[in-house]
Amino acid sequence: MPVLQFEDVGVLYQGIPAVQNLSFALQEGEVSVLVGPSGCGKSTTLRLVNRLLNPTTGKIFYQDQPLSQYEPETLRRSMGYSIQGVGLFPHWTVAQNVAAVPQLLKWPAARTQSRIDEVLDLVGLEPSRFRKKFPAELSGGEAQRVGIARALAGDPPLLLMDEPFGAVDALQRNRLQKVLLSIQKHVKKTILLVTHDLDEAVLLSDRLLVLQQGRLVQHASPSEVLRSPATPFVQEFLGADRALKRLIRYRAQDVMEPLGAGVEVGSLDQVQHNTNLRDAFSLMVALGKDSLYVVDGSQVLGQLYKKAIEKLAAEDQS
Ligand code: ADP
Repeated sequence: MPVLQFEDVGVLYQGIPAVQNLSFALQEGEVSVLVGPSGCGKSTTLRLVNRLLNPTTGKIFYQDQPLSQYEPETLRRSMGYSIQGVGLFPHWTVAQNVAAVPQLLKWPAARTQSRIDEVLDLVGLEPSRFRKKFPAELSGGEAQRVGIARALAGDPPLLLMDEPFGAVDALQRNRLQKVLLSIQKHVKKTILLVTHDLDEAVLLSDRLLVLQQGRLVQHASPSEVLRSPATPFVQEFLGADRALKRLIRYRAQDVMEPLGAGVEVGSLDQVQHNTNLRDAFSLMVALGKDSLYVVDGSQVLGQLYKKAIEKLAAEDQS
């Protein structure tokens, strides 16, 4: 049973379609990412899901029931929602913010308290350090993590994320992406995420939904979309480095050949172990090298060969 299903959904604004003929299903435990140029209908689609907007035509089902049968408040409580800029309550502690939905759902106090610790752990914030802090005492990245913890707290069947990492710098963004990947490894939530960042979409998604002028033009795994764009528009949208993009999902350490300790390494021909393979490959091309050393700090872990990356790129047909 899909968690969410759109059947031929359309929305008109003053007679002009914002989305049309939208049909798709989200399977349990998958991260689906909506991508497409500005104005293609990503936000409209997300707003339909939590009934901030009702469709002009078509039907939406959530857990096999028509969305229109849910009372909007109850519906929003049953979906986690994580947005850019977080929107934490400034006068509440981290623990109180995270507990907001469990309290609305009237969970027993002991269950709420242990859930606060559980979700703070999941997003990589030590509960004893962060429970009592106020939002003003958090960095941008920490606040964003609390936002995700809050969205997860009620254990929702569906998590909606609208540019969840849009307001933080590149380094923090990278860390938050890893947090989300690690959450998925542990709890496998069903997530519908909107991002304008195509690299982020390829890294995080199990399924990509590519929108063009309100229509769904491709719905498939990122590998499939990158390998076989459904239309010339999708091909152009993915960009010239399409062939390399799927390498974003692999790290240097996944493909290296391990080396013993004690190898001397020059300063340029090395990459950190967690560098993605697209960046490692680009570096090899730029340096004119057929291999790079893989390091963790100053420790040499192994050697990464260009041939191995090329082989992987050719094999990855998932
Ligand atoms: P995206 O999130 O992909 O940038 P949106 O879903 O916000 O796109 O918008 C889809 C289309 O609907 C755009 O053409 C936009 O101008 C239009 N639109 C969005 N919201 C409104 C609104 N409240 N009134 C009129 N038109 C709107």
